Amino acid sequence: MNEFDFDACVVGAGAVGLACGYALAKRGLSVVVLEGERAIGQGVSSRNSEVVHGGLYYPTGSLKARLCVAGRRALYPFLDVHKVAYRKCGKLVVATSDAEIARIEAIAAQARANGVEGIVEISGADARAMEPGLNAVAAVVSPQSGVFDSHGYMLALQGEIEDAGGAVVTGTPFEAARPLEGGGFRIHAGGEAPTDMTVRLLVTAPGLSAQAVAACIEGFPAAEIPKLHYGKGVYFRLTGRAPFEHLIYPPPIPGALGTHYRKDLGGQAVFGPDLAYVEAEDYSVDPAKAAGFYEYVRHFWPGLPDGALSPDYAGIRPKLHGPGEPQPDFRIDGPQAHGLAGLIALFGIESPGLTSSLAIGEEVAKRLAAAS
Ligand SMILES: Cc1cc2nc3c(=O)[nH]c(=O)nc-3n(C[C@H](O)[C@H](O)[C@H](O)COP(=O)(O)OP(=O)(O)OC[C@H]3O[C@@H](n4cnc5c(N)ncnc54)[C@H](O)[C@@H]3O)c2cc1C
Repeated sequence: MNEFDFDACVVGAGAVGLACGYALAKRGLSVVVLEGERAIGQGVSSRNSEVVHGGLYYPTGSLKARLCVAGRRALYPFLDVHKVAYRKCGKLVVATSDAEIARIEAIAAQARANGVEGIVEISGADARAMEPGLNAVAAVVSPQSGVFDSHGYMLALQGEIEDAGGAVVTGTPFEAARPLEGGGFRIHAGGEAPTDMTVRLLVTAPGLSAQAVAACIEGFPAAEIPKLHYGKGVYFRLTGRAPFEHLIYPPPIPGALGTHYRKDLGGQAVFGPDLAYVEAEDYSVDPAKAAGFYEYVRHFWPGLPDGALSPDYAGIRPKLHGPGEPQPDFRIDGPQAHGLAGLIALFGIESPGLTSSLAIGEEVAKRLAAAS
């Protein structure tokens, strides 16, 4: 029987890796979370919409459907306990033409099948009564949706891990793992103070580096590493008063939920993200995209003034599908997929990964406990 430096190592201190570390630490395991950057939460978790998703869209029985609803139900109480800011503002999924009505009705039906609470279908007149200025012929109301402070959330997760005796170590990139005879892994981490350690359990949650990290684990079958696609989305910010209180979402675009409206916690109106496949991590926002944003947003907000949008920020989704291909589920790969006992490798944790994070952590911890 091996003696280990830690029960568990989690690679990546984004929302998902920290939530995995929290779930494991809560169960009394000694946990180390390794983060390559100098601070936590600098990856996908800092370049998104910060929306708490209700769980409306995802196919029945999928991990996304189950973990988004469970994650959201766990998230609000967690934010309350840790005094992290959020606004449960609710969301309107809007049809702006008769042709879209069947699409939003299908979303309402899927939401109910997923167990999302409080879904109501309303007329265009009722939607305008809730949000004057909105163009809608019909809408679906999701009262459980909201916006939150994702950085405050990640700091609270870090605090919980440290309170339980675990460590979140920044500036320490995971570089290699080798399975040990009798179970567990020897891990090598780089950075300014390179270090080796042994751990019984290994969880990889490195966002856009999921494929690269899996390739550094000895014995991980190359055929089981899914291809990575970068799905970039950009945002534009409104100069002027935020026009709506609710989140406003048109029906989804192929491959993503698409450009929506939110009033962030600071009260500013933000539109985005679109979806464009790119070949490299590039977070620039092309001002020329504004024309497409004006046209798209005016479908649901005809009052958008000329000249009111400015380029804001961009995020990149760690996608497992290319353009035109069906959007796959999250992958939470255990030994059945890759053959390595004690290892869970996460792939394709795009939206709704932030909302689902606490439930992903629980799922990972339960699977590891069941296998031990
Ligand atoms: C444009 C956009 C909008 C989105 N909007 C929403 C939304 O509104 N609501 C929602 O629920 N979800 C949303 N998502 C999805 C959500 O942001 C992600 O699913 C989630 O943040 C993923 O978290 P993560 O911890 O897996 O990845 P990350 O946050 O990227 O964390 C991975 C971490 O691993 C680190 N790392 C990488 N390689 C190594 C290594 N070798 N060693 C150590 N550390 C390493 C990285 O530095 C990083 O900190 C959106 C995503 C995008 C791109």
